Amino acid sequence: MSGAEQTLAPDAPCPCGGVPEGATFARCCAPVVEGERVAATAEELMRSRYTAYALADGTHLYTSWHPRTRPDRVDPEPWVRWVGLEVLDVVDGDAGADTGVVEFRASWVAGEGRTRQRGEVHERSRFARRAGRWFYVAPENEVTGR
Ligand SMILES: [Zn+2]
Repeated sequence: MSGAEQTLAPDAPCPCGGVPEGATFARCCAPVVEGERVAATAEELMRSRYTAYALADGTHLYTSWHPRTRPDRVDPEPWVRWVGLEVLDVVDGDAGADTGVVEFRASWVAGEGRTRQRGEVHERSRFARRAGRWFYVAPENEVTGR
């Protein structure tokens, strides 16, 4: 959708940090980001969305966003480099649930040299399952923004 997608080797470490930690992209987020299977849990979907931001993949971000709350299109900013994800808390959102909350902190870097900026997004995200698929709904609160 965005045309600015980046590719990642299947044996590269997953941008989300990996489950288990250090897992490759192919064994972690790739099947969900590439639409080969749906996320089993809210956390798995959240990780796949972080990875989609890291790869500037607007298609997965759009299709995993709840139809009720999603924007008309999602264009991740390719000049923002997402450099780390920490999952801080998970409430419900397992394979048998219909709703879930995942709190995370995502770190980003933009620019180089003197114009380099860094920051983080700290959010408690709400997820809902609809017709067997998890969707991102909205932030519960945004603790820090850009
Ligand atoms: Zn991953």
